[in-house]
Amino acid sequence: MTSTAPVLPAIDGRAVIDGRRSDAADGRTLGNTSPGTGADLGPLSLCGPADVDRAVSGAAAAFESGRWSGADAAERKRVLLDLADRIDAATDELAMLESMDMGKPVHEARAVDVPGAAATFRWYAELVDKLTDEVPATPPGSTAVVSRRPLGVVGAIVPWNYPLEIAAWKLAPALAVGNSVVLKPAELSSLTALRLGDLALEAGLPAGVLNVVTGTGAITGDALARHRRVDALTFTGSTATAQRLMVATGETGLKRLSLEAGGKSANIVFADTDDLAAAAAKAAFGAFYNQGEVCSANSTILVERPVYDQFLALFVAEAAAYEPGDPFDAASGMGALVSAAHADSVQRAIQSGADSGEIVHGGERMSITGSTAYLRPTVITGLDQDHPLHQHEIFGPVVTVTPFDTEDEAIRRANSTSFGLAASVWTSGFARAHRVSARLVAGTVSVNTVDALGLTTPFGGFKQSGFGRDLSAHAIDNYVGLKTTWFQHG
Ligand code: NAD
Repeated sequence: MTSTAPVLPAIDGRAVIDGRRSDAADGRTLGNTSPGTGADLGPLSLCGPADVDRAVSGAAAAFESGRWSGADAAERKRVLLDLADRIDAATDELAMLESMDMGKPVHEARAVDVPGAAATFRWYAELVDKLTDEVPATPPGSTAVVSRRPLGVVGAIVPWNYPLEIAAWKLAPALAVGNSVVLKPAELSSLTALRLGDLALEAGLPAGVLNVVTGTGAITGDALARHRRVDALTFTGSTATAQRLMVATGETGLKRLSLEAGGKSANIVFADTDDLAAAAAKAAFGAFYNQGEVCSANSTILVERPVYDQFLALFVAEAAAYEPGDPFDAASGMGALVSAAHADSVQRAIQSGADSGEIVHGGERMSITGSTAYLRPTVITGLDQDHPLHQHEIFGPVVTVTPFDTEDEAIRRANSTSFGLAASVWTSGFARAHRVSARLVAGTVSVNTVDALGLTTPFGGFKQSGFGRDLSAHAIDNYVGLKTTWFQHG
């Protein structure tokens, strides 16, 4: 009989600096534990300011050499398409690394995260030789050309919930238009970013154009944000860190900044929705997919009172599909949360919900494959709008369900947070769909679905969810400056 145990990929936790794997100059490392099993995943380089300086200097030198920044768009397209192919070819390895590193089910990483990253590189590779400059109207005897210029060195700081995909959202447009990039993955999920650095070199990206510096936010991230030769910073993560980055980049040379921060998104279900069962199934996906560790998770469900009881019963039944299990088991509905410490904080949030309301499903911590970083999908009812569970991002598999009586009340509740990332609306009413979606303050409003997202549409938020947009042709704007060249010829 042959064993079905997967062959685990080799792990190299050293940074990628100027075209080579590299230890931190002072030899410092960080520990890295798999949240799913508690297994030791080996050390990661803890890059200090000297390492960040080496990466940024290498990136700046590569930019100035023009080998990438000045390359024909067709050449940049060719290399990025090659990188996309290499990501696809490495699907099993990358999916296992992602799952081992941050706890999500390996089957989801294989089906969603890895192909999503490859598709992102492919999309921007295909875009880059179709961008055109502008020749606006100017007085007779003159011609002006408005062109997009790469900015130079882009620092990219990313979170742990979609490590490979969000890195691709930043890198693909930044690289496609000719920038050099220094990527700082989250300390809890650096392994796929490091492999991406290797694959980019193998695809022919010149040394120094993409560097990956590992380490903590306070040491490595701060050194990158404050480095004076970084021209632009792109970030996805918490609102608290986004606020620090505004200070750091403002104090050190007025860098271009784009921020994708937190969210607290509502899903409004009207009684006139055509298919309440479909709404319940999608609502469960919107709340529990990826262990609920999704910035745009629809974690506040508002249901019009006449269908509240029916919806709640359907929704709780759907939650059963998200029971946690071994991330390497294809039957697991969720994996582990990113760490036992994060599971502790989500558990405290559940307790605060239980103190004021009622847990109608889940709530329990679980121990699976030697780790306690697992929580059951949790449904809480009976909380006021100003309860912390309705105001703060929990970033775990926890959702509240609350009845409402009028359209105005639902909109007011949905908008009454400091965030503005996403919202969903379920209704069969054409006029209501337009009216309600227009009044919701959110970067993406999904109507009769949840958490809609695609390569062709911008993703980002209003209010404290940040500014700047990932995905779509609009993301290019984060990484270029407009240059006017005016020819006077008459
Ligand atoms: P986080 O803000 O703690 O960390 C994000 C990244 O910033 C990490 O790489 C971290 O090392 C780095 N960092 C932390 N402190 C820093 C500092 N002082 N200077 C420079 N870098 C620093 O967020 P997280 O816990 O990794 O991720 C969860 C958060 O990310 C949630 O708030 C979630 O909503 C948000 N998120 C947002 C989006 C979006 O597109 N809006 C997508 C995914 C996640």
